[in-house]
Amino acid sequence: MNGIRVAGLTYRYGAKTALDDVSFSVAQGEFCALLGPNGAGKSTLFNLLTRLFVAPGGQIEIAGHDLNTAPRAALAKLGIVFQQPTLDLDLTVRQNLTYFAALHGLSGRDRVRRIDTVLDRLDIADRAKEKARTLNGGHRRRTEIARALLHDPAVLLLDEPTVGLDAAARAAITDHVHGLASDGTTVLWATHLADEVRPDDRLVVLHQAKVLADGRARDVSGDRPLQQAFLDLTAEPA
Ligand code: ADP
Ligand code: MG
Repeated sequence: MNGIRVAGLTYRYGAKTALDDVSFSVAQGEFCALLGPNGAGKSTLFNLLTRLFVAPGGQIEIAGHDLNTAPRAALAKLGIVFQQPTLDLDLTVRQNLTYFAALHGLSGRDRVRRIDTVLDRLDIADRAKEKARTLNGGHRRRTEIARALLHDPAVLLLDEPTVGLDAAARAAITDHVHGLASDGTTVLWATHLADEVRPDDRLVVLHQAKVLADGRARDVSGDRPLQQAFLDLTAEPA
């Protein structure tokens, strides 16, 4: 199964519980929105999925590999776009990708072919020779997504990839990543914006360290707009 499975995950920063017995799974080729307000625990979950942190209990499987017992196999299947941009602004788009491809052990023609493939996939081939610094925010983000795809991962994680972008750039990126899921990539997309979630997406609502809802977005919203359902779910008790 080229998906993600998280079971019984709890994580604390000292006295602060950032994740409380979190369980969900994402099937291969599913676009799963991890929707939660600031402080919900989204980035903490990503840090566990990428093994930056290790949880004392619970289980994570990536593309069928247990992250604790087979970390190399699991991480090899993972592509990641972090919340903080990490391009080298003084390098061109192609140089940024080349550097990263080399880290993944890609070389020669194979490397050039992979880079051309991901540039095409994100529709930024015409930007390849531009320095990252000269790109607008949307194209920088697309470059980071292209970079995350270089090693052809089965699972792609994106932590609030549209923050700070204008509406058109947000829509373009949301479209591109839905396309990746349609082509079979398993996607976990963290956001605090309900309008990025489509009715057919898988939706996991995270709030104050807990999963509050998990299902198809249209089922979670019911007869309300999703934004209203999200506000109702995450409302402070009166
Ligand atoms: P999100 O990404 O959904 O905004 P985070 O995972 O960043 O949420 O944070 C979850 C909770 O854990 C928040 O209450 C946050 O303040 C707290 N937190 C995050 N990182 C740390 C840290 N390094 N030390 C202490 N508390 C932290
Ligand atoms: Mg975060």
